Amino acid sequence: MRKNIVAGNWKMNKNLQEGLALATELDGILKDKEINCDVVIGTPFIHLASVAAAIDTDKIGVSAQNCADKASGAYTGETSVEMIKSTGAAYVILGHSERREYYAETSEILNDKVTLTLEAGLTPIYCCGEALDIREAGTQNEFVINQLKETVFKLSEEDFKKVVIAYEPIWAIGTGVTASSDQAQEMHKALREAIAANYSAEVADETSILYGGSCKPSNAKELFANPDVDGGLIGGASLKAEDFVGIIDAF
Ligand code: PEP
Repeated sequence: MRKNIVAGNWKMNKNLQEGLALATELDGILKDKEINCDVVIGTPFIHLASVAAAIDTDKIGVSAQNCADKASGAYTGETSVEMIKSTGAAYVILGHSERREYYAETSEILNDKVTLTLEAGLTPIYCCGEALDIREAGTQNEFVINQLKETVFKLSEEDFKKVVIAYEPIWAIGTGVTASSDQAQEMHKALREAIAANYSAEVADETSILYGGSCKPSNAKELFANPDVDGGLIGGASLKAEDFVGIIDAF
């Protein structure tokens, strides 16, 4: 059965003390609360071990926001999937548009990162999404499906079933402009159909597809009510426990 997931992406925000405070606040709120989705927080690398040790990771999964495209060795400044795993983190966000744009992450690099992540037994949260010009040209479905074809659709069925997809239209990230509920559903449905065509209807039905882009407590319920939207990848609104919990409560 596919899971509903609300995952936070803290990006490069919060120093260690601030991050720990946010994670423990969230942990305290969710401790005795009935929730109807999986919850994940994507912290900077240096927070991972401290955050994972301070919270109940059965209730709140911990995610890295990137990983090295090499397993180990002389790659100064890089962080491997084995290092991430050793912190207690269970997820890795990959292919975020900011990494594609600012750090020139290509499909080839992402394929290596996805493979290493899966080999380490971690769950990739694989991001895809189109820029505004592509949306304006009306070619967004082909563009985003192609991003998947070049990367995660090359995985075996067994491996693909371990991947969480996050659709994040770039024009909606951090802009305050959210995709309408209809726009989100239309893309998620197209992605599910593409997964069915590449693997099978069963695999498509089991895949969690999250929406990301200015999702907040006030619009989460409407977005998550769509049959093909299985939760959200949340940037700005994951930086305040109250807002993030408001989104979790949308399920
Ligand atoms: C993101 O970058 O993953 C994101 C969804 O950001 P925001 O929620 O701030 O738009």
